[in-house]
Amino acid sequence: MAASSIEDLSRQFRAALDAASSPADLKAVRDDFLSRKQGRVTALVKSIATAPPEERRALGSLANALKQDIEEALDARDAVMLATAGPKDAVDVSLPARRPWVGRRHPLTQVRERVEDIFMAMGYQVIVGPEIEDDWHNFEALNMPASHPARDMQDTLYLSAPVPAPDNGRAATLLRTHTSGMQIRYMEAHDPPVRIIAPGRVYRRDNFDATHTPMFTQVEGLVVDEHISLGDLKGTLNAFAEEFFDAKVTTRFRPSFFPYTEPSAELDVECQGCSGRGCGLCKHTGWIEILGCGMVHPAVFEAVGYDANRYTGFAFGMGIERLALRLYGVDDIRMFYENDLRFLEQIAL
Ligand SMILES: [Zn+2]
Repeated sequence: MAASSIEDLSRQFRAALDAASSPADLKAVRDDFLSRKQGRVTALVKSIATAPPEERRALGSLANALKQDIEEALDARDAVMLATAGPKDAVDVSLPARRPWVGRRHPLTQVRERVEDIFMAMGYQVIVGPEIEDDWHNFEALNMPASHPARDMQDTLYLSAPVPAPDNGRAATLLRTHTSGMQIRYMEAHDPPVRIIAPGRVYRRDNFDATHTPMFTQVEGLVVDEHISLGDLKGTLNAFAEEFFDAKVTTRFRPSFFPYTEPSAELDVECQGCSGRGCGLCKHTGWIEILGCGMVHPAVFEAVGYDANRYTGFAFGMGIERLALRLYGVDDIRMFYENDLRFLEQIAL
């Protein structure tokens, strides 16, 4: 046992390492030199015990240095082989990667945020309010007193029994049937000028079918100031439609009726499915209704204490589900609530 045999072993290892051309070869070299039972370095270290005492310390440190060199050289070669190995030996870095499953926001959330972004860019404030509403904010202050026939237009889910006039009003509680109550809530708390949108869930006693759900989402809009005209309403909503559909769209304002606006209108956009010629999507009319709107009725201003001689304003309301149906060309509203991933994954804005 001498220092020269340690050098021999080092040379033998280098030769064996150079000859190794596969991970299997490399493992054989590792076993040959480092195996606990038969490894040549292990044997060398054991043999030091039989060397003359004055040489043991020097031999021991040489042997340890060799062992460390061998381990490092093997590890380095392992890493190189792994990086350059073919598919048989290791990971094939040229294979297409498995795509991680990325979550995303629900299509209805995306549409709502798109609407919010458009109006925020026009300087509107986004406000939210309670889904449990009282009779005053949902009906009475919106020019729909207890006897008003317009209340029949909405199948209301009451939480407490409607109280007959004249004591009705704030006492009766219900699930709001529209977001229009937010007009009242905001005007009661703020003086003009007003420029808000109010998104939120609303509830009606509807069946669950292709075109109706008992819960859906609306976005209410309200602008009040001096000198607000029907021209402002049309300009604003035309600009919204073009932004929303990301295209030059042809629109028309069709006279309609709401108790809390006068005059009232519905905004239609030319059907993009058929360019106005008529198809199943537009029920062969060539037009698709996207929202209701109108100039704020003076009775509404009176209910909140605004001076109807000084201020005018316009309001609008749109259904997020309906907009989503049109944007994505979906023909069954239930698809948005069944949360079938095969459907949801097809939809991205
Ligand atoms: Zn059409």
